[in-house]
Amino acid sequence: MSAATIATAPKTARPALRFVSADTTTGIIAYAVASQHDARRTNIVSLDTTNADTYCDCKAGECHRPCWHLAAVAEMWAAELGAQGIVWLTDAQLVRYGTKAAHMVNTYTTRIGRSLASDRIALLAARAEWRRRVRLGLIERAAASLLAA
Ligand SMILES: [Zn+2]
Repeated sequence: MSAATIATAPKTARPALRFVSADTTTGIIAYAVASQHDARRTNIVSLDTTNADTYCDCKAGECHRPCWHLAAVAEMWAAELGAQGIVWLTDAQLVRYGTKAAHMVNTYTTRIGRSLASDRIALLAARAEWRRRVRLGLIERAAASLLAA
């Protein structure tokens, strides 16, 4: 097999991650993915939105080895943040976005006993973006510029 053949050989298709849960108490978002080694097995791969740590219960994960699922769940979360356009919000808009999501989560939980996944994901995203801005000192800088004006 030549190098050109290797470069153009199709990659083995990886199974898609399917949303399972977004827990606003723990900050953990979880996805299911079919095992490529055992047709009866479904792996759960998750990401802690408070610190971006990833976890997987696949065979590699059980042995504390890195697996492709960990990178995939991090990509899924990054794509979710991008899709919500949350990084483009001002601090005030971000607070309103997160407050509205929290209100929706609380309202649905009170009325029907559970909230919508989209509201829980929006709340986790708003919290994650807020933590990112604090970690990078962006919010403090914005407050300082307001005081200087
Ligand atoms: Zn895995």
